[in-house]
Amino acid sequence: MTELERTAAALEGAEVVGIASHVNPDGDSVGALLALAMVLTGAGKRVLPCIPEPWKYPPQYDFLPGREMLIAPDEIGEQPGLFAALDCSNIERLGPLRKKAEAAETLVNIDHHEDNTMFGGINLVDAMASSTSELVYKVIRKAGWPVSPEVATCLYTGVVTDTGRFHHRNTSPGTFVIAHELAAAGADLFRVVSEVYDSQSLSYTRLLGRALQRVEVMAEHEFAYSYITQQDLADTGATLPETEDLIDHLRSVRGTRVAALFKELPTGEVRVSLRSRDGFEVGPIARSMGGGGHAMAAGYTSDSDIAGSVNELVEKLRDRRG
Ligand code: 5GP
Ligand code: MN
Repeated sequence: MTELERTAAALEGAEVVGIASHVNPDGDSVGALLALAMVLTGAGKRVLPCIPEPWKYPPQYDFLPGREMLIAPDEIGEQPGLFAALDCSNIERLGPLRKKAEAAETLVNIDHHEDNTMFGGINLVDAMASSTSELVYKVIRKAGWPVSPEVATCLYTGVVTDTGRFHHRNTSPGTFVIAHELAAAGADLFRVVSEVYDSQSLSYTRLLGRALQRVEVMAEHEFAYSYITQQDLADTGATLPETEDLIDHLRSVRGTRVAALFKELPTGEVRVSLRSRDGFEVGPIARSMGGGGHAMAAGYTSDSDIAGSVNELVEKLRDRRG
């Protein structure tokens, strides 16, 4: 049996299913989570879909069908027999939901990160997949469950956001086949791009302005970076979950191969998002800082302040150049 068949069979046999995205969820983990929750509910299961703290649900995905099904981590009273972790490269990415996941009889790990630690009893992990949403789509098809327009919209959102609108290197011919099938199943293509990319709040627009205004470039490291403080969030009224795409503006500065966005958290720690291109790999840098991710999109959290985090990263870039 393949891991795809095992995953489909385990879900078909389950009665109570916990499902979770990773902490600080993005469009892929939210889309995959809501799609799987709707499909399993339709198949008669009791489903407990959850986003772990600390970050809240990103508002740009409020329009997604199934969003009302989500429950808070502390509302999962019962112990699900099966727990599915979506888009998590390791079990720490589940935050406070880790305990429920580990206590489940069957832990299913569905993910597309190359650094996945294979923490599940079943590991449907494919680093060639564009997104976790693509893998969830394959599971749904394998089990023979219907893909409603609502489910297709959620999965399409995952594919579109994780590929940066079919723009990043994880876009392959197979990605377009899946996009085609989701479109044919009734995914609301225009709503997805309109809500995710063409509906930013005024507060986020102002935050973006601040971040772009203060971009710094270190030409010797082909490095561009910027930062966001808690004060910026207070002044503009924007929230961190809205900033998912901000870093793409930094990577697109000509001459840049590595981009970083430093985001001050309420705890004083700094979340660092890394993106790269033209063969430069940021996954190993993020891992060496206790984080992880893909070769060209990764992240970690630093205990230093923003200036200290910038220095730490510059040291790493210096090491790499030798
Ligand atoms: P982002 O910069 O959007 O937060 O994250 C970029 C990519 O790196 C995503 O695929 C995300 O799952 C992964 N990532 C970000 N932070 C961490 C982390 O602390 N640990 C691990 N394992 N992966 C991370
Ligand atoms: Mn993903």
